[in-house]
Amino acid sequence: MGQWEDAKREFEEAIARPGAPALWRVRYGRLFHERFNNVEAEKLLKEALQQETANAQAYVGLALVSADGFDEKATQYAAKAVEVDPKLVEAHEVFANLQLEDAKPDAAVKEADAAIALSPDALDAMAIRAAAAMLADKKAEAEAWLKKIAAVNPAYGEGYAIVARHLVLNRRYPEGVEYYRKAVAAEPQLWSARSQLGINLMRMGEEEEPRKLLEEAYNNGQTDVATANSLALLDSLKNFETIKDDTTVLRLDKKETELLKPYLSEQLHLAIATYSKKYKMSLKGPVQLEVYPNHEDFAVRTMGMPGLGALGVTFGNVVAMDSPSGRRPGDFNWGATMWHEMSHVFILSATDFRVPRWFTEGLAVHEEGQANPMWANRLTPEVVVAIRDKKLLPVAQLDQGFIFPKYPEQVLVSYYQGGEICDYIAEKWGNDALLGMVKSFAERKTTAEVMQVNLHVSPDEFDKGFMAWLDGRVGATVANFDSWRQQLKALVATAAGGDNDKTISMAPAVVKLYPEYVGDANAYEFLATAQLAKGDKAGAAATLTEFTKRGGESPAALKKLASLQEELGHPAEAAATLNELNFIYPEDEELHRRLGALWLAQGNKQGAIREYSAALAMKPLDMAQAQFDVARAYLAAGDKGKAEESVLASLEAAPGFKPAQKLLLELEGK
Ligand SMILES: [Zn+2]
Repeated sequence: MGQWEDAKREFEEAIARPGAPALWRVRYGRLFHERFNNVEAEKLLKEALQQETANAQAYVGLALVSADGFDEKATQYAAKAVEVDPKLVEAHEVFANLQLEDAKPDAAVKEADAAIALSPDALDAMAIRAAAAMLADKKAEAEAWLKKIAAVNPAYGEGYAIVARHLVLNRRYPEGVEYYRKAVAAEPQLWSARSQLGINLMRMGEEEEPRKLLEEAYNNGQTDVATANSLALLDSLKNFETIKDDTTVLRLDKKETELLKPYLSEQLHLAIATYSKKYKMSLKGPVQLEVYPNHEDFAVRTMGMPGLGALGVTFGNVVAMDSPSGRRPGDFNWGATMWHEMSHVFILSATDFRVPRWFTEGLAVHEEGQANPMWANRLTPEVVVAIRDKKLLPVAQLDQGFIFPKYPEQVLVSYYQGGEICDYIAEKWGNDALLGMVKSFAERKTTAEVMQVNLHVSPDEFDKGFMAWLDGRVGATVANFDSWRQQLKALVATAAGGDNDKTISMAPAVVKLYPEYVGDANAYEFLATAQLAKGDKAGAAATLTEFTKRGGESPAALKKLASLQEELGHPAEAAATLNELNFIYPEDEELHRRLGALWLAQGNKQGAIREYSAALAMKPLDMAQAQFDVARAYLAAGDKGKAEESVLASLEAAPGFKPAQKLLLELEGK
């Protein structure tokens, strides 16, 4: 009846009684789970298990709690529940649901059937059958199952909601919305479905309807974090500006629009043009790119979704991502993220959302490296260890590495593996093979069929070829890992002790053992620092150039490299290095001033205008100089009108600023 506080009081009294059965604690735990408090829920469920080790319902409860966080333990708890009490219908239903989430449809159907055999009212099991049918594109079969549910209980909205949830988990957002609508229509008071409908409409770029739905849900007790935070996000969207043209919609926080818009707009249009040509298709409708300076606002978008979702996310034609201002400088490359997400936009559209996770992620990672070699797939220590310990999955099971990770780094490792697989396919079979695979996935073929048709190998043969190829590429680094770790440790100690000669003699060997390592405390930066201390500028520049080529993104190192390149008489290279920083951390006034000056001197007038305007957008202390710089760039580009505007603005900031006075006289021909 929704009287949760009263229910809580009764439960408290009940479980305090001597001899209270374990089941009472289980039911109380389930109440907490339903009311969005998994911490208390887990505590009570575990107490129940202490009281009675073979309590199947407690295991069901723990499976539900763990499933919320895509914790691998969820399936273990569900399996245990089935084992302890094979006649417990809900245990089979929960297990079936988890198997389907984990991309194991056959196992899911088997469990769902076990529940249906036990009870003609196993409505959730029927809904899982419907969801499995939908995912296999057997819509008639799905509808038949939903009809069976309606025959038992026409107001059972949860059945549609289960189907909707699986569609969303498989990135089929428009259909997910359609089924959440059916859930709400069948059961108007199913507030969880109303909230999810709102959240998924927001993901499609809507605002008005979601606000209404989310408020209704929240005001009726659906006060979970996802609902509350989505409402908060709708509020903070008031601070956003929308900039539209024929093919793009940019949504940026007003306070950083001026700085970021030129960069984002340029790259977004470039990505659309590049992918349209490469994938031989055009998008239906404009792409909406949302950039969030507050990471929490972005995180709302990915709530309840599996995987990393850490930097960017794509829902159909809507892409949401962090702003570089919301991250630690050097942690995030918005350019790589945007090109990654834009690949998803095209592939989801090309396949009508029927693409397995491993392929769309792998292709998106591959495309990062195609857009810019410095953004190529990263062989991080976690990945090296996973390869060493033979933890890569067969391609036919790779999807499972993205949802319920079997070890903490598995999602990250699966992204890497997917990316390498697509690199391998592009290298061995060519780009058209990748495009052919996209087409085959659009035709609803399975991974095995897609491989056979386009690559003429079975998944097993593919795995063998891929592992041999990967070994050729990274095998040495993997074999060197332990000695690399030891030698890096020794190098860190030597560098900290200030022995530059010894650092210079030790570091190259460390780099050679694991050249791809560009993370914290890497050998490149120790070597460059020591080389500089010894006055070897050319050596330090060569070291830092190799570091950036390998994907090193520390802003301090890149700025140091640009200075060295300038000092050594390579201004074009210095400008290129600074321009890379624009993708990493553009919130840096000095970067824009330096790059503006370099480009102005090199005759890149449009580049100079952009950079000096970016410096101005940072609201520097010396506004007169910043406006004056913009004026000079416009003048160089032959735009006297804009130059005069800027020079007047410069004089407004500092009426006595001599260079601006001089430029104004020049402009007025006096
Ligand atoms: Zn992705």
